[in-house]
Amino acid sequence: MNYLKPEQKNSSRRKFVKNLSLGFGASSLAFALPQLGFGYSKKLDKKMGVALVGLGYYSTDLLAPALQETENCYLAGIVTGTPSKAKKWQEQYNIPEKNIYNYENFEEIKKNKDIDIVYIVLPNSMHAEYTIKAANAGKHVICEKPMALNEEECKQMIKACNDNNVKLSIGYRMQFEPTTQEVMRLGQEKVMGAVKLVTASAGYRESRPEHWKVKRTYGGGPMMDMGVYSLQAARYITGEEPNSVTAQSFNTNPDIFKEVPETIAFQVQFPSGAIGNLSTSFGMSVNSMHTTTEKGWFKLDPFSAYRGIKGASKEGVFEFPVINQQAAQMDEVSVCISEDKPMRVPGEEGLKDIIVVQAIEEALKTGKKVEIKR
Ligand code: NAD
Repeated sequence: MNYLKPEQKNSSRRKFVKNLSLGFGASSLAFALPQLGFGYSKKLDKKMGVALVGLGYYSTDLLAPALQETENCYLAGIVTGTPSKAKKWQEQYNIPEKNIYNYENFEEIKKNKDIDIVYIVLPNSMHAEYTIKAANAGKHVICEKPMALNEEECKQMIKACNDNNVKLSIGYRMQFEPTTQEVMRLGQEKVMGAVKLVTASAGYRESRPEHWKVKRTYGGGPMMDMGVYSLQAARYITGEEPNSVTAQSFNTNPDIFKEVPETIAFQVQFPSGAIGNLSTSFGMSVNSMHTTTEKGWFKLDPFSAYRGIKGASKEGVFEFPVINQQAAQMDEVSVCISEDKPMRVPGEEGLKDIIVVQAIEEALKTGKKVEIKR
């Protein structure tokens, strides 16, 4: 795994970032990014058209507003099964009638030249089907996390994109966030010595007993939804893949959590000997990361929120610009597509998480340590 671009290894970067004023919007940041070495950010001559598939919470509250701030892409189309939503979005975002699809006529999107990128924001069990359909329609794909239900689905998604010569990225927005990129650097470059222990928890209170997020067949449950953030933290801080996992589940509210656990604690061990002591929950609001290294420590709290990531290390408080993560993510993905560059978060990265998630499921079932063979 290599999240660090060569220019990120420039030690003057942190000092330079500190000199920037905090809190400016994504548009001015987009120009600052190349010097900061966050990725392939630049302004494209022509914006890419994005179609959002599934107009639920994340599309409505985060992605559509972010697409009003992006420099390299715009909200060109929507795919929804609800006609009233189609009308509302059409009016609100000035979307042409010809760029509005439902799940029955979705494949006709192939003929639509306005749509370059299809962004899958559906329940987890639908990610594979719609990613493959979008790829077969010749569209580049962003698919929300978690990538899919299992390793097999992830591989089919990657293959469909390769076969159709389109790019695939997974919606791990944290990897585009400057403070998060700093902890990746500190850990992967062993700036304070080797990483010994990453503790991370991600969760919120899910109280909707009928929602797909608590249904097993939809890929619900806290591990798929929030646990992947804790797992990602351990993986991107160490820069390694776990070779074994253990896991325990807890349920204090069986009225809501009939099919999935309420809380999962899981432990991962990396080849270097580093340990991840990780957890996720639908029963409590948790969001923090603390890493112990040979010669120091660093932490983020919150570590996976949409805004206001705060952190510190043994050497002091981090001061990085606040960005719109989703706008930065979609802008960079657009550049990678336009310039045929590798994605920061390709499908293979989503697959790596799902391999560990499946091992955690097995550990929960058997109560035993599961070795991950690759
Ligand atoms: P949501 O339930 O609010 O939205 C899901 C949408 O899918 C709804 O509009 C629903 O109508 C539609 N849908 C279509 N077919 C459906 C079916 N058969 N059953 C149920 N819904 C159907 O969920 P959400 O919170 O927006 O999550 C959507 C995806 O986005 C998930 O994969 C989730 O993990 C991801 N997500 C990512 C982030 C992030 O920060 N990256 C945050 C929230 C959600």
